[in-house]
Amino acid sequence: MSTLDIHQIAVLSDNYIYLVRCRATGACAVIDPSLAEPVLAAAESLGWTITHILNTHHHYDHTGGNEEIKAATGCEIIGFAGDAHRLPGIDRTVVEGDRVAIGQAEARVIETPGHTLGHIAYWFAESSALFCGDTLFSAGCGRLFEGSAGQMWDSLRKLRALPAQTLVFCGHEYTQPNVTFALTIDPRNEALRARALEVDALRAAGRPTVPAFLGDEARSNPFLRADSADFQEAFGMTGADPVEVFARTRLKKDHF
Ligand code: ZN
Ligand code: FE
Repeated sequence: MSTLDIHQIAVLSDNYIYLVRCRATGACAVIDPSLAEPVLAAAESLGWTITHILNTHHHYDHTGGNEEIKAATGCEIIGFAGDAHRLPGIDRTVVEGDRVAIGQAEARVIETPGHTLGHIAYWFAESSALFCGDTLFSAGCGRLFEGSAGQMWDSLRKLRALPAQTLVFCGHEYTQPNVTFALTIDPRNEALRARALEVDALRAAGRPTVPAFLGDEARSNPFLRADSADFQEAFGMTGADPVEVFARTRLKKDHF
């Protein structure tokens, strides 16, 4: 039973900001506000009152609206303890396994280093909603700006272990180029080919490809398949260490 209403806001060239609201209490969190104005405007038109900001990581396109939204609403800003020094306006710090209550809805904090060392995800288990910032994208994953391939692979495996029906609300609309790349290295993957058709149709209709089901990602996203025999064979790395397979996949995407 879902206790959350979720509103997706597309900003800048490809960022998504999310508003999540507990239906029972009206408590409402903004996830990764790159900007303030579109968030405040959306909240006003929905009649929602912002009570929290949840940051997944410190990059400006996920935190740029923090202070202006806090000034306008008096909301509480929550982020990873290890990144408190670089999260603007932070009020409360969290670490792996902590629970964050938005009214009666509850998110669990999952540490997912790799894109940055202090990256976290918020998993609302009851609503099957995962807010994973720039760790996992549909058909892709974040670049390794601070962490190692081993760290990112461990982070992605943690997310992959969540229930298949989990909806992945990621930080960017990168799916179409991600799929284009993925098809070059895993061309016979039926799940990926099906996803490519779906993504092309959604984009042609001007619609978002996000959220995506985690179970579909596990079958189609090459960055979740470094330990799959089928993917390793397609990629010419049969029997290799999954961290090496992941690292090569990430490197190849960086130069695509
Ligand atoms: Zn980022
Ligand atoms: Fe980002």
